[in-house]
Amino acid sequence: MSDDGLIRELPRIRKFAETNTAEDESFRQYLKTRLPLSNNELDGVVQGITDAVWEKLDCTTCGNCCRTLQIVVDQKDAARLARRFGITTQAFIERYLAVDQDGLGYFRTSPPCPFLGDDNHCAVYEDRPRACRDFPYLHERNVRSRSYTMVENCATCPIVFNVWERLKERFRPPARSSGKKHR
Ligand code: SF4
Ligand code: SF4
Repeated sequence: MSDDGLIRELPRIRKFAETNTAEDESFRQYLKTRLPLSNNELDGVVQGITDAVWEKLDCTTCGNCCRTLQIVVDQKDAARLARRFGITTQAFIERYLAVDQDGLGYFRTSPPCPFLGDDNHCAVYEDRPRACRDFPYLHERNVRSRSYTMVENCATCPIVFNVWERLKERFRPPARSSGKKHR
């Protein structure tokens, strides 16, 4: 762990995420059903922690989402990217996209994303798909209803992992009473 308390190394993060499964699920249930904060209050806390963590984590030293996830590309994304390349939307779709069984477009050759450079920089950053802008979704509302996705993304994204760990530290539920009286 570094001086700022964050864990950045992906192999360590994956290992923690794998071994923490029971603890994570138990905390997720606590957060969903018993944590005494409103949805707005919880969203505010998560956004505050996210900003603090994100400030210290440089995505260009990671690039793991671009390397391992399949990115949804909708019609607007395709049109924007097509304009960038000076081709028609149809030509862009034919060159880069495939459509899955739910009708969603994605980069045909991904993962990794065809626009990810060796230096982890995105070659189409200003025009990247909305899914890339929104990932890892920690600034979206109602984190309580998205806690499952959050836990799932812990193994992929160091930002999500460290935010989740800080949330656990901050709101660790009180230990359950054994029911026995102490003399
Ligand atoms: S478009 Fe850019 S941000 Fe999105 S996955 Fe590809 S490299 Fe990453
Ligand atoms: S969003 Fe997460 S997974 Fe993607 S590059 Fe940044 S730290 Fe890595």
